Amino acid sequence: MTLTLQTAIKGDPSATAVIVPSKPHALTVTYSSLASQTSRFQQQLAALGITRASPVSIALPNTWEFIVAFLAASWQRGIAAPLNPAYKQDEFEFYISDIESAIVLVPRGAWDAGAPSVKAAQKFNAAVAECYWDGRRGEVVLDVKDPGKLRGKYEKVLKAQPDDAALILHTSGTTSRPKVVPLTHRNLTRTMKNIKETYQLTPKDRTMLVMPLFHVHGLLAGLLAPLYTGGSIVVPPKFSAATFWPDFTTHKANWYTAVPTIHQILLKNPPPSPRPDIRFIRSCSSPLSPTVFHQLEEVYGAPVLEAYAMTEAAHQMTSNPLPPAKRKPGTVGVGQGVEVRILDNEGAEVARGGEGEICVRGENVTKGYLNNESANVSSYTADGFFRTGDQGLLDEDGYVVITGRIKELINKGGEKISPIELDNVLTQHPKVSEAVSFAIPDDMYGQDIGVAVVLLSGEKLVADELKAWVAERSAKFKVPKKIYFTEVMPKTATGKIQRRIVAETMMKQET
Ligand code: ATP
Ligand code: MG
Repeated sequence: MTLTLQTAIKGDPSATAVIVPSKPHALTVTYSSLASQTSRFQQQLAALGITRASPVSIALPNTWEFIVAFLAASWQRGIAAPLNPAYKQDEFEFYISDIESAIVLVPRGAWDAGAPSVKAAQKFNAAVAECYWDGRRGEVVLDVKDPGKLRGKYEKVLKAQPDDAALILHTSGTTSRPKVVPLTHRNLTRTMKNIKETYQLTPKDRTMLVMPLFHVHGLLAGLLAPLYTGGSIVVPPKFSAATFWPDFTTHKANWYTAVPTIHQILLKNPPPSPRPDIRFIRSCSSPLSPTVFHQLEEVYGAPVLEAYAMTEAAHQMTSNPLPPAKRKPGTVGVGQGVEVRILDNEGAEVARGGEGEICVRGENVTKGYLNNESANVSSYTADGFFRTGDQGLLDEDGYVVITGRIKELINKGGEKISPIELDNVLTQHPKVSEAVSFAIPDDMYGQDIGVAVVLLSGEKLVADELKAWVAERSAKFKVPKKIYFTEVMPKTATGKIQRRIVAETMMKQET
C-alpha cells in the first residue's frame, strides 16, 4: 500500500483530476498538471524556509489554490492546517496560536483589506501570504506579505514519510474545547483506501465537492479519496442550492457526500428532469433520519449510504454498503478497514445488541491528541481501541446504531434517553422538518427533555399534539417536557448540530 499522500495520488497523467466550475477562474486540471503545479508550489514554500513540521494554516475557501496549498504543504513534511476562511478574528487567534502556525495562507486582497485572518496572524507573529491563481503563469502564486517569524532561508524539499503528520485539525468542539488532532500520511492514506473500497470508486467516478475542505468530511471523502482512485472532482467555492444541479449535470458528476442538512436543502431543490445518473449519495457527520433517507432515495432513484466518521479517525469509521448488500436506515453500517467494538465502562465487550461505547481500531486512527495528556490517557484501551465518546450498539446484522454521545445522553432521574432516537420519532411526524432533543435542568429529575422543533413551511402544530405523538410511540418517560418551536435550527459552519448550543439558544430565547 502507498503510504504518503504524494505517492497515493497517481491518476492517469492525462485524466482530469479537478474541475473548477466557477467564473472567472474556471479551470480543468489533469493529474499531470496537478503534480507539476503542486511541486512548483512546494518550491515556493521551501524558498520561505517552510519544510519540516511547520504548520501551514490555510484560510482559503474550496478552491484550486486550497488544493495546491494543501498538497504542497503536506507532501514536503510540512503540516497542512486548514481553517474556516469565514472565522472571526478571535476564532482565528484561537486556532493560529493553539498550533503555532508558521504561516497563514489567505486569499488575494485579504492583506489590504485587513482581513480577520491577517490580523490574527500578525498578533501571533505568523507570516502571511496571499495565494492566487495566475492564469498567465499557469500556477498558483504565493505572495508573501509579511515574513513574520520565517527565517527566509531556502530549505531543501524533503519528501514526507508515512508517519509524518500531514494534517492538523481541531475537533468540532461539540462536547468541550476543540482538541488538536495530528493525522499522519499513514492515517490519511488508510482512510482513502477504506473509502475507495466501501464505495468501489473508480477513475470513472466524478464527485461534486460541497463540504468545506477545512473539515475531514470534505477533505477525505470529497477530495483525497477521489484523487486516490484517479477519479475527478468538481469544486465550486461553496455549496449553493442554486448552482448545485447545473454544475452536477454540466460536468457529469455521479455522486456526492454531504451532511444531512445539505441533503435536506437539496430535497427542496430536487434534480432536474431528466434526472442525472447518480450512482450513490453518501451522508455523514450527523444523524440522517430514516424519514429523510426514504425521501432522498425516492427523489434521487439512487442508494443513500450513511457513514459514521470523526476527526480522530481521519474521517470514516463505518458506512452502509453499496447494493446488493443491505443498507439500513437508522444505522451507520459496518467498519471497512476499521474494527468496531462496543465496550462497557470497564472496557469489557458488551453482548450483541447491548448498548455501550463505540470503540474503533485501525491504521486510520490518530496516535493521540497534541498537548492533551489527560485525553490521551482516557481515550485508548489497553489493546489500542479508541473510545469515540459515542454510545451505540451492534444490531442483529452487526450494523452500528449510534444512540447518542455519552456526554449528551439525557439522564432523567436515572432513565437514560437517547436524543437521536427521540429526534427520529419526532421527525416522523408529517408536519415536522427538524427536531433536536437535549437535556434541560429539572428540579424533580435533575434533567428532563427539551426539544427544538422546526416545522415544515406553512404547517401549524401545538406542543401537546407533538407530546401525544411521542407518547403513542415511545415509553412515557421519553415524552419531552418542553417543546421549543423555532424557525431555524442553530448549526455549525459545517452544518453539524451541537445539542449544547441548541439547548442554550432555546433556553435563552425563552427568557
Ligand atoms: P468534539 O470531539 O470536539 O466534541 P465532534 O466530536 O463533534 O467535537 P467531529 O470529529 O467533527 O467533532 O465529529 C465526530 C462526531 O460526529 C462523532 O463522534 C459522532 O458523534 C458524530 N457523527 C458523525 N457521523 C455521524 C452519523 N452518521 N450519525 C450520528 N452522529 C455522527
Ligand atoms: Mg469528538
